[in-house]
Amino acid sequence: MEIMAALRKDWDTYFMDIAFMVSTRSRCPRRHVGTVLVQGKKLLGTAYNGAPMGVHDCSEAGCMIVEEFEPAPADASSTEMIKKQRCIRTIHAEQNLLLFTDRVDREGSVVYVTDQPCWTCANMLANSGIAEIVYHRPYPKDHGKVAALMGQRGLLFRQIENYVPPADTEVQD
Ligand SMILES: [Zn+2]
Ligand SMILES: [Zn+2]
Repeated sequence: MEIMAALRKDWDTYFMDIAFMVSTRSRCPRRHVGTVLVQGKKLLGTAYNGAPMGVHDCSEAGCMIVEEFEPAPADASSTEMIKKQRCIRTIHAEQNLLLFTDRVDREGSVVYVTDQPCWTCANMLANSGIAEIVYHRPYPKDHGKVAALMGQRGLLFRQIENYVPPADTEVQD
């Protein structure tokens, strides 16, 4: 029985594993993000980053790249702005989750997401009825303002750090 207990996944691992499995549906070669909506212990929705239905995705039309200047990370030697490229062809996973779930299902629910939400997604999630966001991979660019928002809004916001995603679910560089 002890072996059974050791092998049994805890709920965080269980739902984060599903989020990573969902992320493998993404067709953007730059970033695969998956997310799931959990009410109590029930899975009520899944979503990943992708182009709208019936529209060419990144694998067909290529990524749609924009360049933006961002502040250097806090640990960088220089404080100069650095140029970053982002793909804007896809609807973010969290936004797709909101498009494909009902408000009543979101009330008091938990969102598991492979990556820490960007500012826009966090802002939308904060107004969506959910009570908690759990993520694995950090996104330092927006961390400060997103954490402040979550605190102000009274939402639980936490990273699962000691976690290994299921095999072959992460984009290899
Ligand atoms: Zn792309
Ligand atoms: Zn986002």
